[in-house]
Amino acid sequence: MLSKDHIALSIASALLLFGAWLFQEPLLIAVGLIGVLVGSLLPDTDAPDSRIYYMKIPSLFGNAMDYLVIPVIKFVFRKKKFDYNPEHRGSLHTVFAVTVYSIAFTVFGIILLTFHNAFIFQDWNLISYLYLLMFTFGLFFGGVLHLMEDSCTKSGIFPLYPYNEWYLKGGISTGNREDDRPEDFSKALIVLAVISIAGPLVFQFNPIHVFLISIVTLIAIWMLFYSISQ
Ligand SMILES: [Zn+2]
Repeated sequence: MLSKDHIALSIASALLLFGAWLFQEPLLIAVGLIGVLVGSLLPDTDAPDSRIYYMKIPSLFGNAMDYLVIPVIKFVFRKKKFDYNPEHRGSLHTVFAVTVYSIAFTVFGIILLTFHNAFIFQDWNLISYLYLLMFTFGLFFGGVLHLMEDSCTKSGIFPLYPYNEWYLKGGISTGNREDDRPEDFSKALIVLAVISIAGPLVFQFNPIHVFLISIVTLIAIWMLFYSISQ
């Protein structure tokens, strides 16, 4: 799937999930959404021509991935005696790798933030850690969404490898501009996201109830997208 489709589908899915809190915690949700945007591109750092290397802030994470994080992932694979497959849609396109690199980014982030707070900012600024965790959760969630999106494409992926050889594939061919299913999926998600944003804001629904309904809706709509993609 193209990078623009990954970004649109992931941001719209995240807006559906967190829409209920958008106007209560705008800054926290914005930080999470930036995490989702970057996270939705990170699995494709296994392709050297990935769009992530041509975008300002995401390219920082693309390079951090190459020089800092992928060595950590390879180390973890070696320790667990798993084979690391560096090819496109190989090991980086698995829930295991997304989990490992999200934890690695969280640890690197905590080290950098602590250094910054202690020596430059000179204040512990505990709230900054909450924003960092929201950002790295966004990286994780964006990565998982990327896997769901690639599961709808013709090449398919093994999302649970190395624990399970379950192969998911659909019928969407990357780069086929005639196929507007990714665009239609994004539009459907945006309509649902608007409803989840409007729930607490316009109709005064309890945000927790809207959030719980959004989780179920998100799972159901992605199962529907998967079947439509076949
Ligand atoms: Zn991919």
